[in-house]
Amino acid sequence: MTADPLVDAFARLLGPGGVLTSPEDRARFEKGWRYGAGTARCIVRPSSTAEVAAVLRLCGEQRVRVVPQGANTGLVAASTPDASGAMVVLSLERLNRRIEVDVHGRTVVVDGGVLLSQLNEALAKDWFWFPVDLGADPQIGGMVATNTGGTRLLRYGDVRHNLLGLEVVLGDGRVLTQLNRLRKNNTGLDPKHLFVGTTGVFGVVTRAVLQIAPLPQQRAVALVACQDGDTVLELLTALEGQLGEVLSAFEVMSANALEAVFAHQPNLRKPFAVLPRYAVLVELSSTLPASSFSLEAALQARLEWFVEQAGDGVLDVLVGNGDEFWQMRHHISESLRSVGKMLAFDISVPRSMLPAFTGEVERLLAADWPAVRLCDYGHWGDGGTHLNLVWAEAAVGKPAAEVVAALQPRIYELAVHGYGGSYSAEHGVGPHNQRYYDLYTDPVVKQLCGLLGDFCDPGQLLATVRLR
Ligand SMILES: Cc1cc2nc3c(=O)[nH]c(=O)nc-3n(C[C@H](O)[C@H](O)[C@H](O)COP(=O)(O)OP(=O)(O)OC[C@H]3O[C@@H](n4cnc5c(N)ncnc54)[C@H](O)[C@@H]3O)c2cc1C
Repeated sequence: MTADPLVDAFARLLGPGGVLTSPEDRARFEKGWRYGAGTARCIVRPSSTAEVAAVLRLCGEQRVRVVPQGANTGLVAASTPDASGAMVVLSLERLNRRIEVDVHGRTVVVDGGVLLSQLNEALAKDWFWFPVDLGADPQIGGMVATNTGGTRLLRYGDVRHNLLGLEVVLGDGRVLTQLNRLRKNNTGLDPKHLFVGTTGVFGVVTRAVLQIAPLPQQRAVALVACQDGDTVLELLTALEGQLGEVLSAFEVMSANALEAVFAHQPNLRKPFAVLPRYAVLVELSSTLPASSFSLEAALQARLEWFVEQAGDGVLDVLVGNGDEFWQMRHHISESLRSVGKMLAFDISVPRSMLPAFTGEVERLLAADWPAVRLCDYGHWGDGGTHLNLVWAEAAVGKPAAEVVAALQPRIYELAVHGYGGSYSAEHGVGPHNQRYYDLYTDPVVKQLCGLLGDFCDPGQLLATVRLR
């Protein structure tokens, strides 16, 4: 027995290990990866759909707000409680047993709390993988709630493109079971879409049906040094024109971003004597064995052709050593944080506008904030750029909060209204960017979310983010 009757009720319902209350046990659920920190009333860890439903019913009776939490790798502060100490964190980490592969159907039915790495380990036994690929290890339910994109979206799409069915517990404990395994099913409203990218506000994802992809048999990777953004786009078009079906990643890293990597990752060595404005990581992959079609030879040939066409635009080309090139890409974010203060953005614009947009940001900084460096990188193949700004506080001479308050709204405004872009390309919506959701979302969309919210979560328990 504790002093909290709700905690006692959870303990009776969920059994040993089902509820965590001590500050030490709660700590890892209360702090987000990058943003978000608060205090939870308790952490509940149901291990079945029925238990999730019972938890939500209990919370509804007591009008207690709930934060669904996956692996807590989200980057918009939506998976952690606020400071009130009143919210319950509903962790899915014990709902992680089911992984049912249908080899001939090329689908998998998977519990919401299964980690991406666990899923891929299980799928690899049958030579499959779930190709939404990123530098973190999220849970499947969290990936649905945030519609994860990742580095191979160009080839395989995001979670939405690979989701066939869902089981969801609505805010009042009703269970919506739509475990569709069909690729073709045009029979009216497909409700799964309500739960994709809506940050858990309409219900808790307890199971998903995903389409899976055969594991590639070969990969070829190159690093292409380009002297400007226009050359990067020319390269993308040239690769898509002849190797589009096998192009699986097109990641762009600026010289400033790479400089931070080589300054803070002693195990990685500089690939070029002088870092180019942009180094492009190109990856081809295929299920064809190298004996029937060599991707490396095809990539070499296409790049040789491109170098001739591009003239001075391409400074160097390195083919091979894919692991090392990917290491560079995956270490950028943490390396930039070691440099100084950082303002991170997850922006997309129509990809043909990436050089113009980036150029305008550079001019803006040069004019008004010369000590702030643009360290951009990202998924240019999808129009995505992590347009991160980094500075030394002493050089700028202002508190970081002031720099953020001045620059964040300007850059978002430029992206959204200047270039028809998005203020959150792939990380979703949360307290971190709520004010920009409020500012930029069509009022009719908010009205619709209100109506859907009234139906799915009438008690408004699932409310870390306000979509209405
Ligand atoms: C190093 C790093 C690299 C990353 N790279 C990328 C990238 O390339 N592309 C990209 O898109 N993202 C990226 N992310 C962001 C993050 O990994 C994704 O948003 C991820 O899908 C979140 O899943 P999660 O299980 O960690 O969810 P959490 O962080 O736990 O939760 C995220 C949101 O989903 C809700 N939620 C969680 N589980 C459920 C559920 N079962 N039902 C309903 N709602 C739920 C939470 O309430 C919260 O609103 C990266 C993060 C890190 C730390």
